[in-house]
This record gives sequence, structure tokens and C-alpha cells, in this order.
Amino acid sequence: MKIHEYQAKEILRQFGVPTPRGHACFTLDEAENAARELGGSAWVVKAQIHAGGRGKGGGVKVARTQQEVRDYAGQILGMQLVTHQTGAAGQAVRRLLIEEGANIAKEYYVGMVIDRSRQRVVLMASSEGGMEIEEVAAHAPEKIHKVWIDPVAGLTDAEADAVARQIGIPAAALPQARACLQGLYRAFVEKDAMLAEINPLVLTADQRVIALDAKINFDSNALYRHPEIVALRDLDEEDPAEVEASKFDLSYIALDGNIGCLVNGAGLAMATMDIIKLYGGSPANFLDVGGGANKEKVTEAFKLMLKNPGLRAILVNIFGGIMKCDVIAEGVVAAAREVHLKVPLVVRLEGTNVDLGKKILAESGLPIISANNMADAAQKAVNAALS
Ligand code: ADP
Ligand code: MG
Repeated sequence: MKIHEYQAKEILRQFGVPTPRGHACFTLDEAENAARELGGSAWVVKAQIHAGGRGKGGGVKVARTQQEVRDYAGQILGMQLVTHQTGAAGQAVRRLLIEEGANIAKEYYVGMVIDRSRQRVVLMASSEGGMEIEEVAAHAPEKIHKVWIDPVAGLTDAEADAVARQIGIPAAALPQARACLQGLYRAFVEKDAMLAEINPLVLTADQRVIALDAKINFDSNALYRHPEIVALRDLDEEDPAEVEASKFDLSYIALDGNIGCLVNGAGLAMATMDIIKLYGGSPANFLDVGGGANKEKVTEAFKLMLKNPGLRAILVNIFGGIMKCDVIAEGVVAAAREVHLKVPLVVRLEGTNVDLGKKILAESGLPIISANNMADAAQKAVNAALS
């Protein structure tokens, strides 16, 4: 799960990471009031969307007067902000962060993710902050310093100081850099993050170290123990079909192909997408209906896939292990009738009661294309999508 920058900064502050003062705003009046309340002589107007690269896309502006704050807020609020992370359609800006402008002497990058091969959180830090860190990783990987953090010891003072020195933070600012790095790590662990990033972490002209940007992604499997994080969810930033799917406990991820996939089990769903690709097609979604799918779930799954105007065919690929094929076949038939299915439907069933399942499909009177194995099913779906 993702959150906004201002929310991530609030969390980081709880862990002792200094950030600029700021206020989230939804209107121009709120933006202007926020600037007045903050005081000072420079403010930054920042689009709040769940994507990075906002600066380059025109979603971060420095204002010198309160009128300028209002003007920039007017430009950014409601804009369709396109960045390298949003895709060509961009993302509508509904919230702003108005914060005090920092006098930046130097920008650094610090981030943390879980390195599964080492079973540790890895801290990555670089002197090349502010810009796209992906570029640095690709062209100058030696400029990214890494520390694999011992889960028992945590990020030690010595480790934090060493990495801060490596990226060029001056000696006088090391205690502050240490507070930032250790705070980031404690936030990462205590909040069950999957990724936490401060880009840029800056050194100000008066030698303070502060987080100017903040991004935290959370492990959705751990959200049950963080109601305070769930409360930060912004459904406007999520794919509507994925939000709908989560209500029915379906694992659904929208993709840009045209063959809808309805599968039980994440592994089989991945294999189904692979084999569609192998035969020259392109999946419209990942969809795992889970082990215990009933008629209602299958019907909702069909409705979700049919919301996509580009859908040309549906491939149902079910292994009846816990679930019996005849139950699934009945669910598919009922769902296809309920949604008045217009696109070709290819069904491959295997497992318990498979013969009975196939009989139900054949006798349904629906134009269901039956397939005997995965390769057969994928080819039939790809052909159906082309015709
Ligand atoms: P993004 O990563 O989405 O482009 P950032 O929050 O990193 O957005 O902002 C982009 C750039 O804008 C930063 O690298 C920094 O140079 C500048 N910036 C952001 N916030 C401030 C601030 N409070 N004061 C001064 N400059 C800022
Ligand atoms: Mg940034």
C-alpha cells in the first residue's frame, strides 16, 4: 500500500527524522492560509500523488510570495500530472502539500528495501540525490553505498556514520544524518514497510540535515496490525477495478493487454499470463479468485474484467483441487449468463469431477470454447481475441 508524501513525512517525524514544516491542502484558500501560518519568505507547493518524478513533471514549485503560493496552487490543483511513474495518462492532483522552502546546499539519496536473498533490510545511500536514482543505479552503481542491516543489532551508530561519510555528509552534520538514517530504519521495521525512501535528503546552507521528500510503501499482508496506516489509504490514487476487487477478496491487477484471465491460485495465474504471451497474446489482467471461489466471486470477477473496454476474450483456467470442477463450471455458466457475456470465453478445467464440469459447460447452451490443456487454452484465447 502506498501513501502520500505529507503522510510519510508525518510518520518519519514520529521517528525523529527532521522535515520541513508543512500542511496538506485541498483548496486555494487552504494553500494561502497554510503559507501565512508557516511564515517565512519561501514556500514549496507540491502535488500529492502516489508517484515520483513530480518535480520534473511540473508538480513542485517554489513560491516567493503568498500570492505566488496561491497562483501555483491554482496551476497544480486539478492538473493531470504526468511523470515517468504515472504512465502517459498522468494522475489527477487533488491534494497539495505547502511547506517551508529549504535553502539547499546539497541533495543526497537514502532508501531502504528488503533484500530477500540476504533476508535483511538493505540501506542504500548516494551522493547523487534528487535526480532519478534508477539512472545512477544503471550508469554509476559504484555511487550507491549499501549496508545490510542486522535485524538484532539494528542500524548501528558506526554503520550510520560510515555510510553518511561515504556519501559526503560533513563531519559536523553526522549526528543529524545518523538520526535520519536510524529513524528511517525504525519506521521501516515498526510500520512493516517494503520500501522507504528519502530523495532528496538535504544538507541546508546552515548545515542541517532534513528530509525534503519521503516515500513509504507498506506490506499489505501486515496492514491488519496497522489500522493507523490503513486510515491513510487514498482510494482516488488506486485503480478503481483493483479497489472493487479488494472488496470481494479477489487479487486483481489491471494490465494493458486484451485477454482477461480468471484463474485460481497465484502461481497458475502467473503461468497463464506467461503462456498467453508465449502464443503471441497479451493478458488484460492478473486475477486470482483464490481456492474457495463460489458463484458470487466468479460473477464479480467477470464483471471486473468486463469493465475494461479493450477486452477481446476471457480465459478461465481452473485447477479443481479443493474446489470441484462441476461447482466451478456452474459458477462460470451462471456468471456468463448474468453478465450477458459478449466476448469469447475459453475454459480449461482440470482436476476433481472434470468430466462433469465439462458436461455442464457443453450443455449450458452458451458459446463456451472448451480447451483440453493450457497450451490449447492459450492458443484458443489468442485466436479468439484476434478474430
Ligand atoms: P519528486 O521526487 O516527486 O520530484 P521532490 O519532493 O523530491 O519530488 O521534489 C523535487 C525537488 O524539489 C527536490 O529535489 C528539491 O530540489 C525541490 N524541493 C522539494 N521540496 C522542497 C522544499 N521544501 N524546499 C526547497 N526545495 C524543495
Ligand atoms: Mg523526490
